[in-house]
Amino acid sequence: MVKICCIGAGYVGGPTMAVIALKCPSIEVAVVDISQHRINAWNSDQLPIYEPGLDDVVKRCRGRNLFFSVDVEKHVSEADIVFVSVNTPTKTRGLGAGKAADLTYWESAARMIADVSKSNKIVVEKSTVPVKTAEAIEKILTHNSKGIKFQILSNPEFLAEGTAISDLFNPDRVLIGGRETPEGQEAIKALKDVYAHWVPEDRILTTNLWSAELSKLAANAFLAQRISSVNAMSALCEATGADVTEVSYAVGKDTRIGPKFLNASVGFGGSCFQKDILNLVYICECNGLPDVAEYWKQVIKINDYQKNRFVNRVVSSMFNTVSNKKIAILGFAFKKDTGDTRETPAIDVCKGLLGDKALLSIYDPQVTIDQIQRDLTMNKFDWDHPLHLQPMSPTTVKQVSVVWDAYEAAKDAHGLCILTEWDEFKTLDYKRIYESMQKPAFVFDGRNVVNADQLREIGFIVYSIGKPLDAWLKDMPAVA
Ligand code: NAD
Repeated sequence: MVKICCIGAGYVGGPTMAVIALKCPSIEVAVVDISQHRINAWNSDQLPIYEPGLDDVVKRCRGRNLFFSVDVEKHVSEADIVFVSVNTPTKTRGLGAGKAADLTYWESAARMIADVSKSNKIVVEKSTVPVKTAEAIEKILTHNSKGIKFQILSNPEFLAEGTAISDLFNPDRVLIGGRETPEGQEAIKALKDVYAHWVPEDRILTTNLWSAELSKLAANAFLAQRISSVNAMSALCEATGADVTEVSYAVGKDTRIGPKFLNASVGFGGSCFQKDILNLVYICECNGLPDVAEYWKQVIKINDYQKNRFVNRVVSSMFNTVSNKKIAILGFAFKKDTGDTRETPAIDVCKGLLGDKALLSIYDPQVTIDQIQRDLTMNKFDWDHPLHLQPMSPTTVKQVSVVWDAYEAAKDAHGLCILTEWDEFKTLDYKRIYESMQKPAFVFDGRNVVNADQLREIGFIVYSIGKPLDAWLKDMPAVA
């Protein structure tokens, strides 16, 4: 029986390994982590992450050929293939701070693999890492190997949170990069054989190590760039009276462009896009390519601009002040169908409104009060360094309440901001909400999920990203 061990039981390690275990009953899969808390949750009925379909997959194989454990060394030493899926946050200090990837977790995992291994192993980079990380890892492993042979592969993960299980069941492609030596090719084949249990062969791509590493950063940069492009257009639409939904539909009909990932919004979030672009920018700078670095930096700048523009729109519409006004925040996760709040635009929007002394009442169906409080207290990038967490400041505590119902959030509010596209926000009883709010009652739809015309008929003043503005909003221009 082939044995797989995955170091890191997070958003990637957990679902990916659960699907491998489900699709490959002849392989034993152990997912290990240094966090006892996380492993306990994986072994309970309350999994540590919310992902549609995940519960079912885990229930079907946990205890059969899928195991979650904190006994990292034992499972690594027994494995034939070791995936490394630890976090690779942005560095907060020292050389490259604010841009470069912090490979501390990766390096310590590599040193531990070298230390405990008693048989040859294939080590697979699952985390998103800078180009040439495999070379560094190879050096750590070979210089500490005590005669054991390691082959390094790059197998970046392309799943999207919220659709992770269907993405893993039916991936657009699986990418495997390895050395061009006979041993490297043999290792590629061994990993290919795992995926071949359910992925058609023509979707398993093999490349050299550096192409695989760079492809992941490039894919995330391209995806984020599409969002920033449509968001930049949304600002122009508002200025000219064009409708961004009509523009992106017309643009997306071009088969060279395609219709996906062209929705205007309050901005992109999630743990990867910003981190991976910053990492790409740093790599460009280190390779003497400042113009290329500058190009990709703009994608993040437009994202920040879009979040600021949204806050300014809220404040300017409400007579240029939200001080002591209750504002309902519907949705805090960075997208629907996940409880993940890492880099969610809701953090910046809430912080912007709190800066203007608003009183926030927040509702999200999957995010806990503790998480929201932590997110609104943390400094930039601290989210991926969980040890740096600070308690929420007393002023913020007074300004923020977290409730478990959209109606409760909206009661007595002056404005309502929709920041996550949860399906349930489309079908709320907006008449009831309108009646319970202060007047004039505003809706700021950061995801374009509501029917603005119907809401206007009820009496709301509605702002939808990139859509023609109400007369009220035209009279209250927002400066980004
Ligand atoms: P995560 O923070 O959810 O999980 C990482 C886990 O690794 C944590 O539970 C942490 O405790 C554990 N860990 C850290 N060091 C360890 C060590 N030495 N030994 C054992 N466990 C250790 O992160 P994630 O979202 O799963 O992302 C992991 C990697 O995958 C990152 O590089 C990320 O960029 C990449 N990625 C993420 C996504 C996504 O949607 N989240 C998608 C594709 C790729």
